[in-house]
Amino acid sequence: MRYHRSFLPVIALFFHIVAVSLQGQSFEQWFSDGVMRVDLVFTGTASESSYTLEEVRKEPFYSGSRSELLDPFDYGDHKLQVRDAASGTLLFSHTYCTLFREWQTTSEADTLSRAFNHVLRFPWPKATVIAEIYDRNDSGEFDLAWSARCDPGSMFINPANHLEFEVVDLEINGTPESKVDLLFLAEGYTDLEMDKFLEDARRSAGYIFSEEPFKSNRSAFNVRAVKSVSKDSGTDIPGNGIWKNTVMNSNFYTFGIERYMTTLDFKSVCDVASNAHYDQVFILVNTTKYGGGGMYNMYAISAADNEMSREVVTHEFGHAFGGLADEYYNSTVAYNDFFNLAVEPWNPNLTTLVDFGTKWKDMVSEQTPIPTPPDEKYLGTVGVFEGGGYVSKGVFRPMIDCRMHSNEAVFCKVCNTALLQMIQHYSGR
Ligand SMILES: [Zn+2]
Repeated sequence: MRYHRSFLPVIALFFHIVAVSLQGQSFEQWFSDGVMRVDLVFTGTASESSYTLEEVRKEPFYSGSRSELLDPFDYGDHKLQVRDAASGTLLFSHTYCTLFREWQTTSEADTLSRAFNHVLRFPWPKATVIAEIYDRNDSGEFDLAWSARCDPGSMFINPANHLEFEVVDLEINGTPESKVDLLFLAEGYTDLEMDKFLEDARRSAGYIFSEEPFKSNRSAFNVRAVKSVSKDSGTDIPGNGIWKNTVMNSNFYTFGIERYMTTLDFKSVCDVASNAHYDQVFILVNTTKYGGGGMYNMYAISAADNEMSREVVTHEFGHAFGGLADEYYNSTVAYNDFFNLAVEPWNPNLTTLVDFGTKWKDMVSEQTPIPTPPDEKYLGTVGVFEGGGYVSKGVFRPMIDCRMHSNEAVFCKVCNTALLQMIQHYSGR
């Protein structure tokens, strides 16, 4: 560890030089319009995993930042890096989470191997690139797990989308590269229910924009909706023997948890989303049943019509958009050993106090004790409160209450800051 630390300034200087040299290069030098999409299958058990290439496709709309092509946050369980094959120059990076990684921490993964589909997306390269996937290890560092050469001139690249649907602009404030492009997808809505979907999407966007930091930054967003038609209305509820034919194959009871609604069919999610510009996908499910989910830079999903939908929509968007962790700890979840207490978690709103200086230490006043007792006098104070990330001991959250802790609260000051930084990244402000 001592030797490792002594190299840090050198490494930091190296990355600084790479970042500076890349900023000097224009997006247009390396990329053209469109998205290279690499579809893979992600398989394994609790202790091992591997990626297998399925196909490379072309999508029409790249919506991310054109000035900040390297992910400045390094959140997430995985990192995609794209290099120019000829020179090795790092051109693009993007961090994200997967449902497979969550599943690996469930008891089922101890004895069973499963396959999850997986999709990488990056701006369309002008020359052959090397796509690399890094998985975060138990020590919190990224290890190279897979790589492949991707040639934009290959005759096998498939530009067709078999899930084409009409897109409706709900609120446009600027160009895709200068805004956060939020895209609502219809799940479990029949052709006859599309007017209801558009109403639900407008209402759900309204939930997000009713809370800070989104309220003050509404003009940094574009909002669109894909009228993705399902054959059946509703979603799968395996615990009740209910199965529906829906466009993105969503279901309750993910990993055996009734309220945990997700879809394992990420390919279909990306097919539906590829009809429009997007940085963030929100799947609205035509159900009154309480539930939802959110994976960082993958998707958020929520019931449209539950009385708690306002709370679920904003909470899940916090996961998917901000990389925010759950700050609760007194609830039954399916995960085992979700956090290594000897390592600082990557989420901006949790700490193990292993490396607190990289978190919100600068927001804690000198009078506030660390850890901070959960006394009423510290309500509204940024401190270090024990319990978070499904763990009651050894993991700490920034405030007594937060949108990521309970349904009653709004985003705490630390989550608010993290979300604001993300808005600024996408909108270039
Ligand atoms: Zn928070």
